Amino acid sequence: MSKTILEPDQDSPPLGGMSAEEFRRYGYEIVDWIANYFERIETLPVLAQIEPGDLKAQLPSTPPEKGESMEAILSDIDRLILPALTHWCHPSFFAYFATSTSAPGIFGELLSAAFDVKSMLWRTSPASTELEEVVLDWLRQMLGLDRGMSGFVYDTASVSSMHAIAAAREGIEMRIREEGMSGRKDLPLLRVYASEQAHSSIDKGIITLGLGQRSLRKIPCDSEFRMDARALSTAIEEDKRNGIVPFCVVATVGTTSTSSIDPVPDIVEVCEPHAMWLHVDAAYAGSAAIVPEMRHVLKGCHRADSLVLNPHKWLFTPFDLSVLYCRHLDLLRRAFSLVPEYLRTPEQENVRSGSDYGVQLGRRFRSLKLWMIVRYFGHEGLAARIREHCRLARMFASWVEQSPDWELMAPTPFALVCFRACPLIKNEAEDARAKRLDGLNEEIMHRVNSTGKALLSHTKLLDKLTLRLSIGNIRTTEKHVRQVWELLNQQLQALL
Ligand code: PLP
Repeated sequence: MSKTILEPDQDSPPLGGMSAEEFRRYGYEIVDWIANYFERIETLPVLAQIEPGDLKAQLPSTPPEKGESMEAILSDIDRLILPALTHWCHPSFFAYFATSTSAPGIFGELLSAAFDVKSMLWRTSPASTELEEVVLDWLRQMLGLDRGMSGFVYDTASVSSMHAIAAAREGIEMRIREEGMSGRKDLPLLRVYASEQAHSSIDKGIITLGLGQRSLRKIPCDSEFRMDARALSTAIEEDKRNGIVPFCVVATVGTTSTSSIDPVPDIVEVCEPHAMWLHVDAAYAGSAAIVPEMRHVLKGCHRADSLVLNPHKWLFTPFDLSVLYCRHLDLLRRAFSLVPEYLRTPEQENVRSGSDYGVQLGRRFRSLKLWMIVRYFGHEGLAARIREHCRLARMFASWVEQSPDWELMAPTPFALVCFRACPLIKNEAEDARAKRLDGLNEEIMHRVNSTGKALLSHTKLLDKLTLRLSIGNIRTTEKHVRQVWELLNQQLQALL
């Protein structure tokens, strides 16, 4: 008799998941592997020492037909994955914004993966929904933000800022949710303002929201890379005279290139008379406000409409977790809430449902890791680590200042140092010097990075190639900062 679809398939491989016994065995093995990884991380090259395509060439191009043993899989982590990693948790990772995970954060991720809740409605994830509200309120208190700011978790600052701009747009009552932006003769050009130093995520948010790049007007900065509030005011007035509708300003506390701080109190004074939404991008530097003596970096933010900060940058939280604080969650909800019949619940009017505040339906249980981190380190422990990173950066900056061969390219308000080598050659023409120093600094950076002993990144400031040393890793100590200074000087001497 032929098999029917109702009979179990006798030839099928075993069904169900891994047994509890096996899970324990491999789970302990993986935890041991991670502990060893952190113990030996300093012996590994920070930057992956492979060429593009090397890993792909070693992986089968087709999936395995039959399941493989965990032994085989885990041995490939050592053999294939590890050599292809750039080690962000290496204490000599000084590139971009240096960040790192931490043990309570890893445990939080593990538990979150085990629970695998989809935090979309209160009832699908009461723990996630309520813990998120509580832990973000703790963080608000640590940052010294006022009670009017309610927090919400997204994956990244790019996404947080995009949602903030969407809420700002919802607030101008132009029925964009209902009617869109295309094919409308009644819709003037809508304008968002940010400084020349603002992160590219603001441009991308504007592109994603269909506003178009011409909706973003970049405002010039002063000599310390901070938005010129007077130029902002002039730009808004000019746009208004031309029939453009200004609706949002993005100020940055801790810009990506230099960590400069836009003058939020002055920018607020410009925004308020025009009833414009002020969003503060504090993705990197906002965390510094948990250090009591650094609270002033968020000065003026009690008058902002929204603010983003990334615990995955400088609060030792494994990627990804970004927090948007917003004074008008009602507008965010108005922009994004859409409840089809299959998601309707009896309690929906009295609870927060994650899917009401963004484009995603299901959301990961991210607040768990932040809750575990805040409890494990405490406010004091987190602040002490950030304070130490700032001290190390000031120490490095002082070496740069004292050396005739190096110069600082920007102030150091946090834990990022912008600098470059500038050895003198007598009677050199200005143009030739500019070109030589750009080439020299690029070469120094490549040589340091290719040693595998440290990783730096760069930017351009006033058209000059500038090296960036960012300190933010939980394992970085004075020893590592001294080592990279020595490495930089060795490479400079070798090139002179
Ligand atoms: N804003 C600033 C100031 C940043 O420096 C960055 C990234 O470094 C971002 C936003 C984007 O962060 P994310 O990767 O979380 O989108």
